[in-house]
Amino acid sequence: MKVVEILFYNSNRVKLVVEMPDPNCYSTKHAPHIPKLLFKLFPHLSTHRCDNDKGFTFRQECRSTEIPHLFEHLIIELQGQVLGSGVLRGETQWNWRVDPKGRFHVYVEYTNELLVLGAIRVAERIIQALDSHQIDQIHVEEEIQKLRLIASAGEQIKQTGQIIREPIRQTARA
Ligand SMILES: [Zn+2]
Repeated sequence: MKVVEILFYNSNRVKLVVEMPDPNCYSTKHAPHIPKLLFKLFPHLSTHRCDNDKGFTFRQECRSTEIPHLFEHLIIELQGQVLGSGVLRGETQWNWRVDPKGRFHVYVEYTNELLVLGAIRVAERIIQALDSHQIDQIHVEEEIQKLRLIASAGEQIKQTGQIIREPIRQTARA
């Protein structure tokens, strides 16, 4: 799975164009190890609300869902862990009568522009690592820690328009 386009529409929603390298392998049905490992790394995902036709819980839904839909929830989860809240929403759509098969449009809300960019990249890396069974490459706490730093830089930019440098210590002169 690869993010080929990131589009900032308005102030709180970003659109991603996501493509599957093999257009016939886009479902967790073809890769059941991905949700299994993902829930192991992020147990909080099982509390996610998910609107689906069958009224399934997110965990049930993940047995047979599009991998970009999992990716959408992961971006929301990463942002939620950093922000300490779970109010952001997302949506995954596709229309292969218009687009080539295997292309998805993922929409995700955000409050901090730098944080969502970081979360997109981390989530992409995690899905790719899990796909190739390399769960030991993922250190969730370290990733969250890095995203916290990115988020605080994002907050500074939002408030002041610039990243504040550490004050330069001055030597007192007599
Ligand atoms: Zn969902």
